[in-house]
Amino acid sequence: MTEYPMWIDGGEVRTNDARPVRVPFDGAIAGQIYLAGREHVDAAIAAAKRAAPAMRELSRHERYSILMKAHGLLGQRREEMAQAISSESGKPIREARVEVDRSLMTLMFSAEEAHRLHGEEVPLDAHPGGKGKTGLLVREPLGVIVAITPFNFPLNLAMHKIGPALAAGNTVVHKPASATPISGILLARIFAEAGLPNGALNVITGPGGIVGDMLTLDPRVAMVTFTGSPEVGLRLRNLAGLKRVTLELGSNSAVIIEGDADLDKAVPKCVAGAFAHSGQVCISVQRIFAQESVRDEVVERMCEIASKMRIGHPLEDATEISSLISEDEAKRIEGWIGEAREAGAGLMTGGGRRGTTIDPAILTDVPPSANLCAKEAFGPVVAVNSYRTLDDAIAMVNDSDYGLQAGMYTRDLEKAFRAARAVHVGGFHINEIPAWRVDQMPYGGVKLSGTGREGPKYAVEEMTELKLISW
Ligand code: NAP
Repeated sequence: MTEYPMWIDGGEVRTNDARPVRVPFDGAIAGQIYLAGREHVDAAIAAAKRAAPAMRELSRHERYSILMKAHGLLGQRREEMAQAISSESGKPIREARVEVDRSLMTLMFSAEEAHRLHGEEVPLDAHPGGKGKTGLLVREPLGVIVAITPFNFPLNLAMHKIGPALAAGNTVVHKPASATPISGILLARIFAEAGLPNGALNVITGPGGIVGDMLTLDPRVAMVTFTGSPEVGLRLRNLAGLKRVTLELGSNSAVIIEGDADLDKAVPKCVAGAFAHSGQVCISVQRIFAQESVRDEVVERMCEIASKMRIGHPLEDATEISSLISEDEAKRIEGWIGEAREAGAGLMTGGGRRGTTIDPAILTDVPPSANLCAKEAFGPVVAVNSYRTLDDAIAMVNDSDYGLQAGMYTRDLEKAFRAARAVHVGGFHINEIPAWRVDQMPYGGVKLSGTGREGPKYAVEEMTELKLISW
């Protein structure tokens, strides 16, 4: 069995507490990790604190060079990394390869930010008291940053934290999700090989409920950057005190399809956006509001594509739908589908469960109060409801505790921009699904979807402190 020890202060660390990592599709063993105790959390933070002055002193060019060297090494190991992601998370291998490619882009954009990072002149003499004074606003690294990441994009979401943190001269303690720790450990080895100073990136593995509190409460930590569920995010914010906190949380993302929309474009995109990684994507298409004139056609055409999706083992090239992360999660989705049907929804296709796998499910007329509409599903299920006027549709999209991204299909730009302004989300995409993202764009949510923005340029801003120097 391949071992994946923790990575602390530039070396491997094993403990007495070993645990297998399993392929969620069939329970096969993907590797073995070790669970951290209090002393390992302490050692990781101490190493990051010790490495902070060395990281801070690296020139922009040196940081850029290390990040680009890591980029080259990751590119060489694309297939190995894709297989690790696919095995630990159950993500179909073709999607895992896309995740590695996106991680390469995230790393490259982060390296570029190391070059671009700069401050500005402050016009102090605009005030009578500032005559003769010059002001310089510089951006300085924060120090030790704790990065806590979820299971669904174990590499790229880690990269969205580690890349910008290192580009800005910080050090990092990374805690990957317990289900998917392997790709994070492989990434730390790559950074070490690329010449990152010992202690600048540490990876500890262990249950979030135990090591998460230790990391968040530790006074040596300057910032906690978290991607995961709103419940855990809220808990971390309450524990973090005056530390800087970025929260990238969940959603029940919506698409509006107007009667004039190009359905040839909208329908395949909505199917892909609803069922990629079995819907375990924070911006998965979960609620579709189609104008009543096209609703039935949208449903019919979506069912046609979804019912033919190839379900299978994540490592098989042809697989489009594989498992959820656990059987409990699959049972939860099964229950939510049953609950929606009892409340009057129609199940148009899919919904069957075998172990950890759920057939891609499309429902209609789901009441807004049903879990399938009101909460984050995080499974291969989408509700297609109808509306009469655009104002009705906007109100339905906004009737949500979440606000990460939304999309709209229409040929009428005036309507599109009206909706773009009225919908309360972090990102609104015209003639695109909410699941669309390129890695340099500002990305983050409102309401229960979180606070702060990622995308290397924006993450670097969150991960640096402004200091004014005057003379
Ligand atoms: P999760 O249960 O909240 O776990 C996320 C991370 O937090 C894991 O590393 C987990 O560790 C850790 N954790 C759990 N309890 C903790 C605690 N008390 N203190 C500190 N850390 C703790 O989320 P998930 O199930 O992995 O991921 C799904 C969620 O992530 C969904 O809500 C999804 O929408 C959200 N997400 C958001 C974005 C975004 O960019 N907005 C992207 C992807 C996913 P363990 O695994 O050891 O429990």
